[in-house]
Parts: sequence; structure tokens; C-alpha cells
Amino acid sequence: MNLLIAGKSDINRAAREFFESRGVGVKTAEDISGITKFEGEVGDFRAAAGGEEIEAAFVLLTELPACEPEPIDGGAVEGLFARSPEEMTSRSREYPDVFLLDYFRESPAHAAIRALGAAGALAAKKRRAYYLSRFARTADYESETLYSETRNAGAVFVKYDELKITRAGGVFKIAASDGALEYEISTDHIYSDGARDVGGRFRAAARVFGLRAGKGGFLVEDRHFLEPVRTSRRGVYHIGRDAALRAGETFAFILRDAKRDAAGFRDGRARAEIDGNKCVLCRTCERACPHAAMTPDTAARAMKNMVSACEGCGICVSLCPCSAIALAGERDYESPGRACGHRTLIMCCENGANEAIGEALSFMGALAADVDIRAVPCGGRISAGELGRALENYGGVMAAVCPDGACAHFDGNKRACLQAGQMADALKLAGLSGMDVATVQVSHAMPRALADAVVDFMTRHGRSEPDLETAS
Ligand code: SF4
Ligand code: SF4
Repeated sequence: MNLLIAGKSDINRAAREFFESRGVGVKTAEDISGITKFEGEVGDFRAAAGGEEIEAAFVLLTELPACEPEPIDGGAVEGLFARSPEEMTSRSREYPDVFLLDYFRESPAHAAIRALGAAGALAAKKRRAYYLSRFARTADYESETLYSETRNAGAVFVKYDELKITRAGGVFKIAASDGALEYEISTDHIYSDGARDVGGRFRAAARVFGLRAGKGGFLVEDRHFLEPVRTSRRGVYHIGRDAALRAGETFAFILRDAKRDAAGFRDGRARAEIDGNKCVLCRTCERACPHAAMTPDTAARAMKNMVSACEGCGICVSLCPCSAIALAGERDYESPGRACGHRTLIMCCENGANEAIGEALSFMGALAADVDIRAVPCGGRISAGELGRALENYGGVMAAVCPDGACAHFDGNKRACLQAGQMADALKLAGLSGMDVATVQVSHAMPRALADAVVDFMTRHGRSEPDLETAS
């Protein structure tokens, strides 16, 4: 089994040692822009870097998001990772050093640990060091110990509610309040973690590996379903600064996960099957697939689904203009097979709404009897055509999909809303009530909100009289 380490980072050496000690062959491509080809799926990736062909079963992206802090009041702020703690402490200083967290965004754990370490090192050298943050982070033993060590070294902690920073004559004036005390700090140097933006180099890395990114270009951050190191593409892992804090544990997880997926593990998920006779190689599915699971098979003159990479989300099925894709292993769905105008169909995403609908129905009293449920692997599986077909049997169809940022397939929820909007417009154009199609965005933890949305949808269309219990 081979691993490709891609990116320039201090963690590369530890990663090579860990994986080689477990019999994994390791190739490293530090310069991501030198990677001219990357294709394939977990267990069988092929890349070209620096004129060399590389075969790898899995990939570890070690490139780190830039997250450069923006200037404050025209004054430069230094990134927490721009220099090593040793370099920070080597300079003589007239003013105190200020470590500023939670200013540009809620700072991640690794930034807090870095700032604590540096502030403690400076204070231990009898330098004045301030640690300013909105939140105290003592979630784990390590940061709790680091907190007391840094405090004992003499660093000053300010947990601010209010903060105002201005700059004059090259000096920052910081006015902070923790609701009880007011602090006035003058300094010419602020360290901080940066804005929610990964920077150009990291974006390029995501493009090379065909990875879907969230807000600000992050690959894993705030996507709980990918933590700690998975990305949108099976077999490609990204080790950020937080995961690097527990490097050994993280590498062990990656090795276990990659071995399992390379062996073809599918945990029961459906997969796309393409009818080569219908496919016209328009590549729509390839562009839309959030998991890089489609690749053109020029010999067969049709698209090919890479089984190990396919997550079975169904987005390609709803977008293929030739209906050339079906989902093998998709849950069967029993349609009533006869028109029943008073009934409502709720298409529920399996990653969220489908876990809430059972409880939601219990809040709906008698109305629940007029509701049918269809589970879908992702909101993205719901096409305007699917909605139209359902309206042949139902008076109303609602797509219950994930809230923004929570879709396990990145934009499946948005695609469902788009398709439902198109269907509603088409119904209006046809002079049919455009109100028979709706969407709601709920997570697994929102049964009440889902119940209220369904009741509102049904009663607004007079499909049933409200039951007192639910109308409250
Ligand atoms: S979207 Fe459909 S027709 Fe287009 S390439 Fe994919 S399978 Fe073929
Ligand atoms: S089902 Fe989803 S993951 Fe699989 S090929 Fe289609 S879009 Fe990609």
C-alpha cells in the first residue's frame, strides 16, 4: 500500500516515519503546483509530480490554510504561525506582546494552544504578554494545563466581552472590558489567527485533488461529518493544525480508514450505475459529483462510476439529462399508485430529516395519517421530475433537506431547493397552484420545526383540517 504526502508542512516527517514504520510506501510532493495529474479512487490513485508517475492507495494533504490576519485600523497583525515561539521570544521589546483570539472569527483549538504556548514562553522570559480571548478553552486536559502554566508564568488573561482597537503613530490602543474590569493596553505588536479564508495556495491544493470546500475554502472545518481529517473524496485526507495536535492518533485513524475503503468497504451505501447506451458523455455528472466519483471512459464512450468513491447521494441521477444513471441499492419506495389528492408526500433526506420525521409525525395528531414518507440518500437526489411524478399521486410534495453547511454532500440541499423552485414555477406557468411543492431545511434534531412546516404546508392548501394539538 502506498501513500502520497502532498504539501509543505512540519508534519510531513512525522507522517512519513509513522506510515513507513507500518509498511506503507511513502512518496512526498511538497510543491502542490508541481502535481500535473491526479485521478482514480481510493486504493488506486494515479498522480504525476515533478515528471514522476506516482501510484498511491491514499493521499495525505498536509498543506495548511493560510488564514492570514487582516490589518487592524491600518496596522499589520502577525499570524500566529508566521514565526516559531522561539523566534517570537528572541526579540527585545518595548511594548507588551498581545495574543488576540476570537477577533476575526471564533479561533480554533490549535490557535488557542499556539497562543498559550507563545504567551507562556514570553512571560517565562519576564516579558509582558497579554492573552485576549472571548472564550476560555479548557475542553481538554492539555489546554487546561497550558492555561495554568501560562498564567503561572505571568501572562495576563483578558476574557473580553467588549473590545475596541485603534492605532496611532504605529501603536495599537486596545480597550477591552470583561464586563467587570476595563483594560487599556498599548502595543506595537499583535499576534492573531486570521480570517476565515484559506488563501490561494490551499485553494489550488483543493482543486488539484478535486475536493469540495466549504465557506472560506475550508475542507474539514465546520463539517462535522468529515472530522477529523476526511475530505469530500474518499482516500484523500487533510491534516489541519487541530488534527496535527494529536498526530499519532490521527495517522492511525487514517491508516485504518484508508485500508478499509481501499478494500472496497461500502457500509451499505447505494451507488450510481450508468447505462452506457443512454450516456452522451456530456460530463454533467462528473462536474456535479461532490465526491469526484465519475470519470469519462473514452473506450466505452460513456461515463464510468468509480465504485469506491461513490457515496450514493444520487445528485448525478437527478441531473443527468439522459436519465442514464440509476442508484443501485437505493431504498425502495412504495408509491400509492393511485391519485390521492388529499395526501402529502414528504421526501426526507436520510442524513437529517428522515431521523426527525418519526417524532415530527407524533406532533401532528390526526394530520399524520395523511402523510407518506419517502427517504432519499440526499436532498440532491430530488429532481423537478421526481417532484412532478410524485404530484401525479399526491396533492402536495415537500422536500425536507439539510440546513446550509450541514449537507453531507455539500450542496445537495441547495440543489433540492432549486429543483423545487423550478417545479413550483412550472406549475404556476401551467396555471396550476404553485403551492403544491415546498421545501424545508431541518436537521435530525428539529422534529418540532419539521412538524410545524408540514402542518403549515398541508393546512395552507386545505388538504386537511388542523388538529388542535398541533395548531398550538
Ligand atoms: S450526466 Fe448522464 S449523459 Fe451526461 S455524462 Fe453523465 S451519465 Fe452521461
Ligand atoms: S451518486 Fe453521488 S457520489 Fe455517486 S457518482 Fe453520483 S453524485 Fe457522485
